[in-house]
Amino acid sequence: MSRIVVLGGGESGVGSAVLAKVKGFDVFLSDNGKIADHYADDLKKWDIPFEQGGHSEDKILNADEVVKSPGIPNDAPMVKKIEQKGIHIISEIEFAGRYDTAKKICVTGSNGKTTTTSLIYYLLKNAGLNVGLGGNIGKSYAYQVATEHFDYYVLEISSFQLDNCYDFHPDIAIITNITPDHLDRYDYDLENYVKAKFRITRNLSPKDCFIFDSDDEITVGHLNKIIITAKMLPFTQKKEVPQGAFLKGDKIVARYEEEECDIYLKELSLSGKHNIYNSMAAALAAKVSGIDNRVIREAFATFKPIEHRLEPVQTIKDVLYINDSKATNVDAAWYALECQTRPVVWICGGKDKGNDYEVLKPLVKEKVKAIVCLGIDNHKFHEAFEDIVGKENMVETRSAEDAVKEASKFAKAGDVVLLSPCCASFDLFHNMEERGEKFKEAVRRL
Ligand code: ADP
Repeated sequence: MSRIVVLGGGESGVGSAVLAKVKGFDVFLSDNGKIADHYADDLKKWDIPFEQGGHSEDKILNADEVVKSPGIPNDAPMVKKIEQKGIHIISEIEFAGRYDTAKKICVTGSNGKTTTTSLIYYLLKNAGLNVGLGGNIGKSYAYQVATEHFDYYVLEISSFQLDNCYDFHPDIAIITNITPDHLDRYDYDLENYVKAKFRITRNLSPKDCFIFDSDDEITVGHLNKIIITAKMLPFTQKKEVPQGAFLKGDKIVARYEEEECDIYLKELSLSGKHNIYNSMAAALAAKVSGIDNRVIREAFATFKPIEHRLEPVQTIKDVLYINDSKATNVDAAWYALECQTRPVVWICGGKDKGNDYEVLKPLVKEKVKAIVCLGIDNHKFHEAFEDIVGKENMVETRSAEDAVKEASKFAKAGDVVLLSPCCASFDLFHNMEERGEKFKEAVRRL
């Protein structure tokens, strides 16, 4: 019996271990840190041997193949040892893809993955298709392949999950956009990061589709260097295209082969220029999947904004509080500021990932009246924006509660308080969800 060792005991690792068990492998799971109680319970329930708080080399280096969770960096000592031993390392997505015959719509990119993936899932579900949602969202893909049967999957796939993919084959691959992010994991080299995202296209064949943002210079720049044989479906807000999606007056037009679908912008439930891009990508995926135009239009009109993504929280004294905690990089915050039509009190800061704030300056000048920093080290925000908003209109805070209080002092009736941090949350919070929750609680207590 072949032996599969899974590194990492989170959602992805436990799902992979369950799938390996169901497929009859000799499975072992190892986690260097602590495994959350509910995952340890799952492993016991499935009778899967595991360890936590360290790696036993003798139980790992005898594997035929290792499934590595995306959170474990490639330069972790155990990963190096596995490589030295010549053992093949794959990702959960690669592993699960081997056992899945469903049609796979796979979304990667720097921003808009969750929104686009959720939109496509909603469109397909509304069309009555038997569809699963996975990857970075909800239950892991591997766990679902082990325990469910779907005809379609819509998968959100991060570049870390693509790193160890080799034969994984999407039917429709989507890159929402590429802007510098997570460069710390790619030796601070943008080219490495771009190549990691483009791994999603490596097995596409002429019958498959590639959906991409042709307004995105980094994406288009890389496309000029490689050959993709799939059907190319660009989306753009700048010009009309023969195949793909574009703007025509007050409508999105999505064209695929002989089919065309029009969607009125005013009927989209999601606002913002970035969501027009996300909707274009989703409309194309829906057209390729053969969904009726009426169903597509209705679904776009009824889709609900996702938590922590430009999520309106509450209006207090005519000040609207918006939670965009998921904006963990500069580009996401750019779009959040761009779509504001009222004066903004901006809450930003956190763990900087090598950000360059230059591109935000024009928007800050135009829209932001005050800045509340929420982070441990905010010197880069001060350097970038103090001259624009004035020293007296910038404050430092270390908790969501204080940030909301300070923001409410700056805000006047008709203003917006926008949490769109530009940064990761790990300096003060466990994750971006906790930051968003604490923000919302503080708003509700005002
Ligand atoms: P991801 O899953 O790629 O992180 P999300 O859909 O969760 O993307 O959105 C993350 C953040 O990026 C949110 O703040 C959201 O408002 C913003 N955003 C969403 N779509 C786009 C896009 N197409 N371009 C730029 N920013 C976007």
